[in-house]
Amino acid sequence: MGKRKSSRKPPAKVKRTLDTQFDCVACFHEKSINCKLDFDQKVGHLQCRMCGVSYTCAINYLSHPVDVYHDWIDACEAVNAAGKAAKSAAQDRNRDRGRDRDRDRDRDDRDDDRPSRSKPYDRRRDDDDDDDD
Ligand SMILES: [Zn+2]
Repeated sequence: MGKRKSSRKPPAKVKRTLDTQFDCVACFHEKSINCKLDFDQKVGHLQCRMCGVSYTCAINYLSHPVDVYHDWIDACEAVNAAGKAAKSAAQDRNRDRGRDRDRDRDRDDRDDDRPSRSKPYDRRRDDDDDDDD
């Protein structure tokens, strides 16, 4: 009797409108990227209204504007990574030279104590051969 039926809240309304505006990773303006999907042409297109950067990619009927946006970010990162890879490859070459030197020194150390460990065995086998003669 004391319970109020109206106390039951309706479930929080989930915003189902798809985001078509995103932050630009080129000029870092917020919500300046406008994304359009052309399902007839099967292309997704986005453009920044601040810096004018644009990107087009193939889409399918499942694609969302955010997919195009993420595709664009991936493409941007791929370009950045390629540039960075080329730069770090040169750095790696220099670093490898130093590392190779270290590795050679390690190997020399190991070579030093290997003969003393393997010599007794070698000599025993040599002795056996002598006995056979
Ligand atoms: Zn921009």
